[in-house]
Amino acid sequence: MRVLVLLGAPGAGKGTQAQLLETPLGLPRVATGDLFRAAARDGTELGRQAKVFMDRGELVPDSVTIGMLLERLAQPDASVGVILDGFPRTRAQAQALDATLVERGAGVDSALLVDVPADELFARLSGRWLCSATGHPYHEKAAPPKVAGICDIDGSPLIQRDDDKPEVVKARLEKQLGALGDVVDHYRAAGKLKVVDGTQPIAGVTASLLAEIRALPGWAAE
Ligand SMILES: [Zn+2]
Repeated sequence: MRVLVLLGAPGAGKGTQAQLLETPLGLPRVATGDLFRAAARDGTELGRQAKVFMDRGELVPDSVTIGMLLERLAQPDASVGVILDGFPRTRAQAQALDATLVERGAGVDSALLVDVPADELFARLSGRWLCSATGHPYHEKAAPPKVAGICDIDGSPLIQRDDDKPEVVKARLEKQLGALGDVVDHYRAAGKLKVVDGTQPIAGVTASLLAEIRALPGWAAE
């Protein structure tokens, strides 16, 4: 079983890349957010447990997340391997994942970091504005309105959600980068870390990731 871990800060484009890698690699992307939703929908015991924490706005404990991940890995399409997206998020999760995979005679083949500098992440995450009438989305740099502060489509004023305000984004990003750094260190120490320049256009990032993956021992194009 082949196990790839895709790492990246919020705004780095990691989830997009995980989806783009599925077809060329022939491996399913497994995102923990999707696992939570699927388990909650299917009413599994683990899903019920996860829902209790999510409904309270708390983090789902590692034991529950790992249990769901194991159930997912046991499904037929994952027998060849998986691309993990959004897990592990902490050093403790990375260690738990290693221990779980060892029991199955497997291990993480490589952890690939979609690397984007903190100031660029901040710019990507903090410039979001929404139309106050219907929520048409804008971004100060990526998709600015023709007239600052006004929706192009209906002329309504643009507003910024509390979550998108610069000081809130900065505090959240710093916390997330700290945890990501721990996970990156874990895989670097294990000799499994590959770093790809995440400031390239999307297709360039995908090409760089595929080149790194195909250079892994036993992963040459088949
Ligand atoms: Zn609008």
